Amino acid sequence: MAKSDANWGINTRLAHGGNDPRDYYGFVNPPVVHASTVLFPDAATMVSRSQKYTYGTRGTPTTDALAQAMNELEGSVGTIIVPSGLAAVTVPLLAFARAGDHVLIVDSVYHPTRHFADTMLTRLGVEVQYYDPRIGAGIADLMKANTRIVFTESPGSNTFEVQDIPAIAKAAHAGNAIVMMDNTWATPLYFRPLEHGVDISIQAATKYPAGHSDILLGTVSANESCWNQLHEGFITLGCCAGPDDVYQVLRGLRTMGVRLDHHSRSALEIASWLETREGVAQVLHPGLPSHPDHGLWKRDFCGSSGVFSIVLAGGGAEEQHAFLDALRIFGLGYSWGGYESLAVPVFLGDRVVAKAPEAGPVIRLQIGLEDVADLKADLERGLAAAAAASRARSKTGT
Ligand SMILES: *Cc1c(COP(=O)(O)O)cnc(C)c1O
Repeated sequence: MAKSDANWGINTRLAHGGNDPRDYYGFVNPPVVHASTVLFPDAATMVSRSQKYTYGTRGTPTTDALAQAMNELEGSVGTIIVPSGLAAVTVPLLAFARAGDHVLIVDSVYHPTRHFADTMLTRLGVEVQYYDPRIGAGIADLMKANTRIVFTESPGSNTFEVQDIPAIAKAAHAGNAIVMMDNTWATPLYFRPLEHGVDISIQAATKYPAGHSDILLGTVSANESCWNQLHEGFITLGCCAGPDDVYQVLRGLRTMGVRLDHHSRSALEIASWLETREGVAQVLHPGLPSHPDHGLWKRDFCGSSGVFSIVLAGGGAEEQHAFLDALRIFGLGYSWGGYESLAVPVFLGDRVVAKAPEAGPVIRLQIGLEDVADLKADLERGLAAAAAASRARSKTGT
């Protein structure tokens, strides 16, 4: 039993959630249980299924500690822990979609989610349809008799559109569909999906919960009505995570509040500074008053994390690459949520409904825990390089 109290502040709950030290002789942290086989005292216990732990794939004190901590954060009945954030997307989709079902997926979804939907889900006989991230209550018009799942992700990957989750959930439930949400950007600290009508909350724990760019893990948390089917699908697929990674993510949760607070403040400061810089056409960060969904974000979210995009003012791949190649502190690499800043060129050619920004190329930034002044200087180098590339291009007339 965890000793966490729902009335405590978030950092207190992060520090004490999950395991109770008294369960293991007072050691502050839970044991890392490496296990396949679990022994039973006798045959009768073995066949009665009454023992708490029965086999490694079905949970250990280590996975229970993280699942319990996530339940406390999400307000969920149960949480499964899977080996990656992508598995946290595919496992619930496989657990709930049936051949002949219609599934609605937001067009600004994380690209590998789209790839899974367009290949494996489609091959299994599921009809996949993408919808505008800003559709809101209008999703009712897309609901069919066989619509089984409405998949949301807010803000959207790379372009950061905020979805009206309560309105979408209302329409989805009216049509007997369930709502899944990839909430990786906000984490349950800044948005609580289940309180906004979502049935299944998905988190790439690889990002902020892990926090150090060295672990892959995913969590999926369900409300009362979806928990049994989610858990059954998880057990059926055998998609369990390794104990060391599970332990490291629980360890990451202890500091996630203070890390996120720093990421959040630095990212907002840099985002609003970038709005004033020449060479930047647009900053796509929902915490900025200039963002088209700022009002919606303010209504539903209680914070913003450290990832956002910028749209360069004009140019194309040359300017984008020049910007990225000039950076010294920001690394060029996928993923985010670690302590270090990252930048990636954004590709939006996969969108079928939502429009990509037209002003120029898009770059996604993850603001790490470094000092803001150093990060600004690095971004200045990038902007200067993009401007130089642009001048060189206009001189040669290409
Ligand atoms: C990174 C990410 C994932 C996938 O996480 P991995 O652990 O890298 O597989 C899923 N959804 C979103 C929104 C992400 O940013």
